[in-house]
Amino acid sequence: MPVNLPYALTAELTHRCPLSCPYCSNPLELQKRENELSTDQWLSVLEQADELGVAQVHFTGGEPLLRPDLERLVRRARELGLYVNLITSGVGLSDQRLRQLTEAGVDSIQLSVQAASSELADPIAGFPAHELKRQAARRIRDIGLPLHMNVVLHRANLHQLEDIIELCVSWGAERLELANAQYYGWALRNVQQLLPRREQLQEAEAAYARAQRRYGRQIELLWILPDYFEDFPKPCMGGWGQVSLTVAPDGRVLPCTAASEIRTLTFENVRERGLVWVWRDSPSFNAYRGSDWMPEPCRSCERRELDYGGCRCQAFLLTGDARATDPVCIRSPHRGIVSDRVGTMAGADTGLPDYSYRGR
Ligand code: SF4
Ligand code: SF4
Repeated sequence: MPVNLPYALTAELTHRCPLSCPYCSNPLELQKRENELSTDQWLSVLEQADELGVAQVHFTGGEPLLRPDLERLVRRARELGLYVNLITSGVGLSDQRLRQLTEAGVDSIQLSVQAASSELADPIAGFPAHELKRQAARRIRDIGLPLHMNVVLHRANLHQLEDIIELCVSWGAERLELANAQYYGWALRNVQQLLPRREQLQEAEAAYARAQRRYGRQIELLWILPDYFEDFPKPCMGGWGQVSLTVAPDGRVLPCTAASEIRTLTFENVRERGLVWVWRDSPSFNAYRGSDWMPEPCRSCERRELDYGGCRCQAFLLTGDARATDPVCIRSPHRGIVSDRVGTMAGADTGLPDYSYRGR
């Protein structure tokens, strides 16, 4: 099949982070600082991404501000004509750092928030970050950059949805991603503590609809579906190896940020292979392109070009087989795994649960 050009590069500069969110999408096996790519290696990744046709780069982590070479990487990305987005917890975004990043050419900043107030947000983050985030948001607006925000929604903060939206509006956000937790990495480790009750989700969806009416065009709200509660899976990443790629802190090239959890695939490393070859020709990027690899029921399903059989990482993590139909799908023979989990939440309490925190 013809291979598309990737649109976006996610550059995971580090797994280090002052926060330890219990739903972090980083893998359970976090890369240490000594395994991280050097500045020159990241500069080469950016040049190769440009050669490959990438139009935008998302610098993320962990916390990308922990890399002192971030400004240099931003500058090079802009010289290459890439749109540069920075995804940050906001911790460490001082006036000076923000000025340097702006001078280097950063186009937008996405700031995460954990809850509507520090009383809940700080225990979720495992760090007193909420006030630092408020200051970071003010600095971003003062310097004239677009402020995009995101919150991961789960059992302990869904009831605050309306207040979270109000908070982000008051901080000057232009766009807010309301991301219902996706259960990979640390979120899967903590799924029993994070998974909401169905009624909680219904109330939150109603609050989201009310906020859309109230704020209109003042803020763009994006509701990321809670796929455990849906009948069909999401079209994960727009299809495996179709629109974007991720480079992990140690240089492994992944079709998505969670893919390193698929133990049955070997992922190439930019220390040994060029990005263009990895994208076009590597066995890992070609493993689930198109639909020839699909088993039944996906193979003969009318939705296979809509959702691509769902998420390969979720299929692997829940069934041990990355080719399996995503167990979120009601046509999957493994749907019982998801239904059982959702069912166990029916009468659960909704206090602040006892999480197993990232990296602790
Ligand atoms: S989810 Fe939390 S712990 Fe993970 S990288 Fe983001 S801020 Fe850090
Ligand atoms: S059977 Fe496969 S292609 Fe069909 S809806 Fe389910 S996951 Fe999608």
